[in-house]
Amino acid sequence: MICFDAISVIPQVFESYVSSSILGRARNRGIFEFYSYDLRIWTHDRHRTVDDAPFGGGQGMLMKPEPIFEAVEDVSAMDPRKPHVIFFSPCGTPFTQDLAQKLSHKERIVFVCGRYEGMDERVYTLADEIISLGDYVLTGGELAALTVTDAVVRLLPGALGDSMSAQDESFSQGLLEYEQYTRPANYRGMEVPQVLLSGDHGAIARWRRANALERTLRMRPDLLEGADLTAQERALVESLTRSSKSDDQLTEES
Ligand code: SAH
Repeated sequence: MICFDAISVIPQVFESYVSSSILGRARNRGIFEFYSYDLRIWTHDRHRTVDDAPFGGGQGMLMKPEPIFEAVEDVSAMDPRKPHVIFFSPCGTPFTQDLAQKLSHKERIVFVCGRYEGMDERVYTLADEIISLGDYVLTGGELAALTVTDAVVRLLPGALGDSMSAQDESFSQGLLEYEQYTRPANYRGMEVPQVLLSGDHGAIARWRRANALERTLRMRPDLLEGADLTAQERALVESLTRSSKSDDQLTEES
């Protein structure tokens, strides 16, 4: 059981996602808990102000420190388990499957979702971790909190049910997933690779591994450096890389 608490100025956006489909079923089965809190609970003025203008001037508004400090302290104290506190920012550590795997061993995670132009820098002293979804800017951290929740929950034992597994998936061994097909075997002239219809489990496993390697080399060669490959597979990758480089040279020369 893992418990997520999300602090946000728009706490109403989480519920429909975490209560639907696979996440919804996992939550009903008690595999995780998810609560959201309105940051404005921790304001003390009539207008329930959470933002203010930046010192030094500049565009837009920043989230002020007081409500965030009080919210994180109060939410943390609601449960004896010490939470892992996560903030979101384009300046954070890029989110990866490895990080999702590490977070799946936590008992409690508190998310603090930013809005506006970001936050007063001092709030990050509360953070155990600052996470970025990628090199782009969102209007708020809520999608980031849902993304992390989703990626972590599907790694928890029992979350996917018996019929699915997180074992063979993209990034699980540092490679992208192999191509998959379902019926019909021929659709508009597009044929499913013959080996997948052969019933030969050894041949299918070899094809899938080779396909995952080839696909990773073509679409995300950066992943191969950290991948778990046999010496034979490394040699194959190197020869494929060399031959694709000489192909490039040929097309450039012609
Ligand atoms: N001015 C900031 C961006 C603020 S965007 C900057 O230039 O770095 C407002 C909020 O959206 C952030 O506080 C963060 O919580 C969230 N956010 C925006 N982009 C994100 C990203 N790539 N990953 C994770 N969270 C992001």
